[in-house]
Amino acid sequence: MTTFSDLHLAAPLLKALGEEGYTTPTPIQQQSIPHLLEGRDLLGLAQTGTGKTAAFALPILHHLVSRPAAPSPKGPRALVLAPTRELVSQIAASFTAYARHMKFSHAVVFGGVGQHRQVEAMRRGVDVLVAAPGRLLDLVSQGHIDLSHVEILVLDEADRMLDMGFVKDIRRIVSMLPEQRQTLLFSATMPPAIAGLADALLKNPARVEISPPSSTVDRIRQAVMFVSATDKKEALKTLVNSPKVVRAVVFTLMKHEANKVAQFLSGHGIPAEAIHGNKSQSARERAMDGFRSGNLKVLVATDIAARGIDVDDVTHVFNYDLPNVPESYVHRIGRTARAGREGYAVSLCDPEQRAWLRDIEKTIGKPVPVIREHPFHSDEAENSRQRPPVLGGGGRGRGGGGGGGRPQGGRGNGPQGRGGRQGGQQGRPAARRPA
Ligand code: AMP
Repeated sequence: MTTFSDLHLAAPLLKALGEEGYTTPTPIQQQSIPHLLEGRDLLGLAQTGTGKTAAFALPILHHLVSRPAAPSPKGPRALVLAPTRELVSQIAASFTAYARHMKFSHAVVFGGVGQHRQVEAMRRGVDVLVAAPGRLLDLVSQGHIDLSHVEILVLDEADRMLDMGFVKDIRRIVSMLPEQRQTLLFSATMPPAIAGLADALLKNPARVEISPPSSTVDRIRQAVMFVSATDKKEALKTLVNSPKVVRAVVFTLMKHEANKVAQFLSGHGIPAEAIHGNKSQSARERAMDGFRSGNLKVLVATDIAARGIDVDDVTHVFNYDLPNVPESYVHRIGRTARAGREGYAVSLCDPEQRAWLRDIEKTIGKPVPVIREHPFHSDEAENSRQRPPVLGGGGRGRGGGGGGGRPQGGRGNGPQGRGGRQGGQQGRPAARRPA
């Protein structure tokens, strides 16, 4: 079995990994790290939960240890681009953890907060800058950041960045980097736009593909309960009240529904908060802190907001609403059973959402086991042939939240005008492909 020392990582990194409790590299780490230590470009097909952050952070830190140099003011040696503030913060936290036994400085840059502290950090000079594209360009254009010293570029969750309309920003940023550099692109999916970007940016890349949906999904105990729409809240309450539920993420399609569900659970003595794009940054951070520390048992989230949830010990995922895009189901349930743990995913399916369950089962290639022994079971839901609801228009379908500025790809193209649904959660009819 490969160990981290077999990968020839520098001693301070091995020490930190031991302290983090990492014993064996994950498949993406095993496959990527040797190429990256050789300086090759890399195309990584992998989702969150596979250990991809360490797969790029460790080689970057190894590079900094083996080629020490004082960073120039404003000019980072490595640049990591990520779509959201939450992801930027998590990546930065991983770097800090792995770099604890070496000399290392980093900065984070994202919008939604004042820029002063970010500018100050850059002025002092940093080894690694982790940034969301929009604010990065702002600071570059104001002269606070100089990208001409970047030796390594990482695009993390490239498909999400494209979905969020960052493609021009990314191309502009890349045009400011030195030609001579190492480039890494990670993406969970490979639509043509990502393939095009990879072709343009990567030189003779190593290609590493990890398919967590099957491996993770296999570890997740899935079930569905057929219920009427009016029983959903009570059914959810019963589920969440089980003593086995320690930390749960509940998914809804719409922001307003997320609020209602959180209020309902709180009203019944279950600590719950909704997180979505309409909440202030500080409210979201408070909720995430509470969730991590265990004070908050339930986070109610829309798909987009859930992008930022990176907590390893989520014991349960509850789909209050099924997702209308099958691959979202895989993303959602992948919030549990992280880092090798067990996890449970229970979906509540009402008659209107029955068709979506059929699509999901086609995508995951197997039926989701049904729990019928409960007071809310509805044969009507189980046997329903209803057409799923049309979620576009009237602002109602803008429930995904947080995807600000994202093009509504394919709006109105679908048979039911699907494009406007769910706040552009996937934002594209073509998202109905296997994850
Ligand atoms: P990521 O896919 O980068 O979001 O990582 C998912 C989770 O797995 C993170 O919480 C990491 O701390 C954890 N992790 C990453 N690599 C390893 C490893 N080799 N052994 C144990 N846990 C890991």
